Formats: sequence, C-alpha cells, structure tokens
Amino acid sequence: MIENSNSEKKIKKNKCSSDNHNNHDHNHNHEDGSHDHGVIQEFLHHFPYAIFSVALSMIILSLLDYNGQADNLERSCSGFHMLFHSFHFLHILFASTGTVLTYSRFAKNPTLIKTLLIGTISPMIFCILSDVLLPYLSGYALGVEMDLHICFYRELHNVLPFLLMGVLNGLVLKSHHSAALNVFSLGSHFTHILISSLASLFYMVSHGFHNWYPQMGYVFLFLVIAIVVPCTFSDVIIPMYFAYKEPNKK
Ligand SMILES: [Zn+2]
Ligand SMILES: [Zn+2]
Repeated sequence: MIENSNSEKKIKKNKCSSDNHNNHDHNHNHEDGSHDHGVIQEFLHHFPYAIFSVALSMIILSLLDYNGQADNLERSCSGFHMLFHSFHFLHILFASTGTVLTYSRFAKNPTLIKTLLIGTISPMIFCILSDVLLPYLSGYALGVEMDLHICFYRELHNVLPFLLMGVLNGLVLKSHHSAALNVFSLGSHFTHILISSLASLFYMVSHGFHNWYPQMGYVFLFLVIAIVVPCTFSDVIIPMYFAYKEPNKK
C-alpha cells in the first residue's frame, strides 16, 4: 500500500497540487535572555529540538497514514494540505511574536517602525524557507516532482492576520509582562520548532511526496536541516543582529 510506483506518485502529486497550501515561515520565539552566545551555539541549542520534533512529526504522520487515509489519496492529500496550512500559519504567528520579543529585548533603541519591519520581514522569509522552500527542494533532491505553493504569494489574505496578530502579540507581551510570556519564551524554542517540523512534513506529503515512507531516512535528514537553520535565524540570529547593529543611543 505504501509502495507507490512513479506513476502513482504523479497521480498523487496531481491530486495534491490543487493548491491550497503555501508556506509561510517559521517563527521562533525566544526572549528568555539565553541568547548571548554565538551563531554556532544557537544552532547547537536548536539542534536537539529539531531532531526530536522531526521524529515526533514523522510518528504523527505515520499514525495518520496508518489510520486509514492512505488508500484514499485525494482525501489524505487534502487533509495534509489543511494540516500544512494550520501549522504553517501557526508557525508564522509564533515566529513573528518571537522575533518582536527577541528584537525588543536586545535592541538599545527599538523604534516601533524597526520592530514592525523586523517582526514581519524576518518571519516571512524564514517561514517560507523552512516550511516550503526547503521541503520543496528536499523532495526534488530525493527525486520527487514537487509542487511549489507559497502562501504569501497565493493567499496573502490568510497569512496577514496571523502575521499581524503575531507582531501585535509580541508588542503586547513586551510591554505587559504577563504570564503568557512564558508560553512564548521558555517553551518557545521547542513549540516553535515542533510546529515548523509539522508544517514542513505536511508540506512535503501534500505537495508531491506522498510516498515518503520508503525514503524516510533521507526525509528525516533533510527536514532536520530544513528546520534548524531557518528557525535559528528567525528566532535569534536576525533579531539579535539588528538589535546589536544599532547605534547605542541611550
Ligand atoms: Zn497556502
Ligand atoms: Zn521557525
């Protein structure tokens, strides 16, 4: 049931390519002050989360497949599309909140304009990269004809509310130290990376790589890279880079 021939893949691919997905970024949030280390340290810090998240995501996907949808390709593709979108949009939400928090925490002079620019552009780029572009390229690298679906381009109206709400959430959290801050800071690396893993994996299976199982080792490998690199950049490196780059006006 799981070994599909190439032609089956194509059929699946076509059925899945009806396009209701896009990728959006990932978001990462951290603002727990633990980011005073270098780029390498940040990657190492995110790496175990990525390993565990991708592994857990594969288990979830396997259970969904096992649960009887595998024999109904169309249904499972559209279900995976839906899951991709849910996690992708959630990723954008978490990433924009996290970026705003990290940036405003470390910047000496965080103006509203700069915060808004960094809080929207960075998650936009890195969520597309981790949830869409890298899974897309990984699929191609493994010999699968993938579909490209970028939600920022195809359905901006669905993306913007999550992005704007994420930024607003970051602004609210930074000025009111509510208990909710913990949700977006301490546990945020893991939450963020898990959401990103699920988005990436569901993107892969709903955009051409339905038959992922025979190559699950490579899928695992590629996804860990696809997640850890963009999420570390979006969570920490970019907001901190801009925060430290500013002239010290205080
Ligand atoms: Zn979309
Ligand atoms: Zn991310």
